[in-house]
Amino acid sequence: MNIDTVKNFTVEDYQNAYKNEEISPTEITQLFLDRIHLLDPSLRAFLTIDETGALQRARELEEKKFGEAEFPPLYGIPIAIKDNICIQGLPTTCGSRILSNYHSPFDATVIEKIKKAGGIFLGKTNMDEFAMGSSTENSGFGPTRNPFDPNRVPGGSSGGSAASVAALEAPLALGSDTGGSVRQPAAFCGIVGLRPTYGRVSRYGLISFASSLDQIGTLTRSVQDSRALFSVISGQDDRDSTCAPYPPFSSSDCLPEDEIKKMKVGVAKEYFSTGIDPSITQRIQEVLNILAKEGFEVVEVSLPHTDYALEAYYIVAPAEASSNLARYDGIAYGYRCHHPLNLQDLYTRTRTTGFGKEVLRRIILGTYCLSSGYYDEFYLKGMQVRTLVKKDFEESFEKCDILLTPTTPSMPFKFGEKSHDPYQMYLTDVFTIPSAMAGIPALSLNCGYHQHLPIGLQILGAPFQEGKIFSFASFLEKILSIPPPDIGSIHSKKEVL
Ligand code: GLN
Repeated sequence: MNIDTVKNFTVEDYQNAYKNEEISPTEITQLFLDRIHLLDPSLRAFLTIDETGALQRARELEEKKFGEAEFPPLYGIPIAIKDNICIQGLPTTCGSRILSNYHSPFDATVIEKIKKAGGIFLGKTNMDEFAMGSSTENSGFGPTRNPFDPNRVPGGSSGGSAASVAALEAPLALGSDTGGSVRQPAAFCGIVGLRPTYGRVSRYGLISFASSLDQIGTLTRSVQDSRALFSVISGQDDRDSTCAPYPPFSSSDCLPEDEIKKMKVGVAKEYFSTGIDPSITQRIQEVLNILAKEGFEVVEVSLPHTDYALEAYYIVAPAEASSNLARYDGIAYGYRCHHPLNLQDLYTRTRTTGFGKEVLRRIILGTYCLSSGYYDEFYLKGMQVRTLVKKDFEESFEKCDILLTPTTPSMPFKFGEKSHDPYQMYLTDVFTIPSAMAGIPALSLNCGYHQHLPIGLQILGAPFQEGKIFSFASFLEKILSIPPPDIGSIHSKKEVL
């Protein structure tokens, strides 16, 4: 058994191999740990590697004997977890120095569910501090590299999770998406990223950035695996009052094969404006031509408020963040500055040294937008724009079943290319933010390459219509037949360094 054997494995393939006793959880866990030890010194996708915990869990699973029919759905599947999702006993830093000494005393709901389903946690992955960013360059612990090109960013903020799955350090990963942080890194790393409908997955145990936007999502090597992981983590949770009273996703939510081609595919002109890398537009157009040839009806729709969504997001998200991040004050947990002169000095120095530049920028921005006299002018306006963005989507889903857009306007960029200019960085999420503001589900699928770098196609659906998205994405994945990233053949460990 070596890594090449499993490079095209889906969760189902692992399950079958376990049932036939061709492999064991310990063997598979060790395989991925070895891979992490080989690649991660240069890739830097992980902030914590839980070797002991993972192997112990693998052994525990082996000791329990399951009958063929009762194998839990993620039995023996190693998973990487973004470092803003709490796993009991492990560090949860959120990519921030202010939480560098924090060990979570409890499990997030998604972690409990994955444990019950037989999953094995490999460790915690790197991210932009408090999930604010699009490149992992804002991590307090140094950036992750793009597995396709070590001089380029893997996207963000879930860059560590995306890179780990693309480089096959883990077969599956969890990330979080507030404005694009699952889909954009999935696009930059050539994998599948799902942001579910807001409220479909519990946020209990996900460290808050902007609570009305945050949602846990999946990063996987195939659409089928995204479905498998989503089925486990979705569903109502009494510990999260914003979690929708909806049952977990099940494969019966997908469309039967003969219904798939009856879906109407919407294309919004606002997503093909100037400013997009021409190689992305060209590839998306090729995919649309393929779909038309396959017999899909492609309709043009309009989402007129798209242009304002980004601006509104950068009011609403920082406003919520400024409130959520007030708890990091050096008192209850996390970093505390040395020798404070008084309480005010303790707060000020803890926060100005514990938080990085981007986080401080957003706290200032958010506090300003919420301050008396400016609340109506900024926050309220931002929320009104949000309603208009949502209405745009509602109206277009009366004309089509799913919408197709590019996931990002640019190809994976080089380190330092955008980090000096926050607005340029913010623009990389211009196509993922509107759907996040509307709370609708969206999936990014790799649809091809330009000069060996992946291009992401985004598939959007109406609220709770993940079934339609998966059905369409699986179909497209099959006809495009692009295999999951094969990083081993792109560069060896030495070249990555
Ligand atoms: N890049 C966006 C931001 O910086 C989105 C981040 C996210 O989805 N967590 O806010």
